[in-house]
Amino acid sequence: MRLEEDIKLDYSDVLFRPKRSTLKSRKDVNLKRTYRFKYSKNEWSGIPIMAANMDGVGEIDIAQNLAEFEMITCLTKQHDVRKLKKCKNIKDIYPHLALSVGIKKEDFENLNDVLKEFNFIKFICIDVANGYSEHFSKFVKSVRDKYPTKTIIAGNVVTADMTQELVLSGADIVKVGIGPGSVCTTRIQTGVGYPQLSAVIECADAAHGLGAHIIADGGCTCPGDVAKGFGGGADFVMLGGMFAGHDEGKGKLVKKNGEKFIEFYGSSSDQANKKHYGGLSNYRSSEGRMVRIKYRGKIKNTIHNILGGVRSSCTYVGAPSLKQLSKCTTFVRVSNQYNETFIK
Ligand code: 5GP
Repeated sequence: MRLEEDIKLDYSDVLFRPKRSTLKSRKDVNLKRTYRFKYSKNEWSGIPIMAANMDGVGEIDIAQNLAEFEMITCLTKQHDVRKLKKCKNIKDIYPHLALSVGIKKEDFENLNDVLKEFNFIKFICIDVANGYSEHFSKFVKSVRDKYPTKTIIAGNVVTADMTQELVLSGADIVKVGIGPGSVCTTRIQTGVGYPQLSAVIECADAAHGLGAHIIADGGCTCPGDVAKGFGGGADFVMLGGMFAGHDEGKGKLVKKNGEKFIEFYGSSSDQANKKHYGGLSNYRSSEGRMVRIKYRGKIKNTIHNILGGVRSSCTYVGAPSLKQLSKCTTFVRVSNQYNETFIK
């Protein structure tokens, strides 16, 4: 047994130290970024916040809205040719769409079918809960060999060594996060995980050294956390829970005591397994939960709120653009980040 003594941090363990700034207004902050990816050589421009490939979030109607802000949506694995054909303006929004695939044979066949029909889609997100298996790296390599010009996202991992391994296997972008998600129970079921801000800082450093990018995936509870992800060095921040509960996600609406709620569940919850695979195999346990989120209306209001928060973070630390945010970031460790006197 070995114990690592140095402290690893979550978003809630830090705050940005404010810095003298010449910025006049937060409206002057530019949130747009342009990236060229290591292997695909594709260039992408937009606001690097992504919707997670979860039911109720990684959906076409969410993508339509996010694309207006030049933000990417990772569609769920269930988006097949038939479903995508229903999206009438797919040729307008495709630069901001990613297709998801697991390592199962039928997932990969679906990806191949979709890419035959919609070969203009540029992002492939190879997504498994645990990106540490040798089999996974080999799979990433085989997808890279088959699709040399696609931008490949692969994850999830939380450490520098495996970030490098996935990049060297052909990933342009590594997805970082094990256990921080709003509907994730991995830490309870397995005791495995890594505090998200430290994972982002360490994996970003590893990926950037190889000319690759990372996504900070999961654990954001408020716009300040999104900014902290970027401040820590993330190239993209992916949101599940913060984008859930809206009309466009088409989740199940339930009413209780006159209030409206929308059901939202983890991708490896019982609910998701029942819906997509007819239940859990008996050697596995669920590592996700279902929650009821207060109905939040249109997603555009939430997007504006998040972008307003991130712009404001940039002005507080003197960053004229999102690109400069991590260079302008000094985090201070805190034991209390929020005054909750009047909450609940
Ligand atoms: P959130 O933004 O809701 O905090 O986190 C979203 C991320 O949680 C997703 O992108 C995905 O990586 C992760 N996630 C989604 N569903 C599950 C699940 O059922 N179990 C686990 N362990 N993680 C999940």
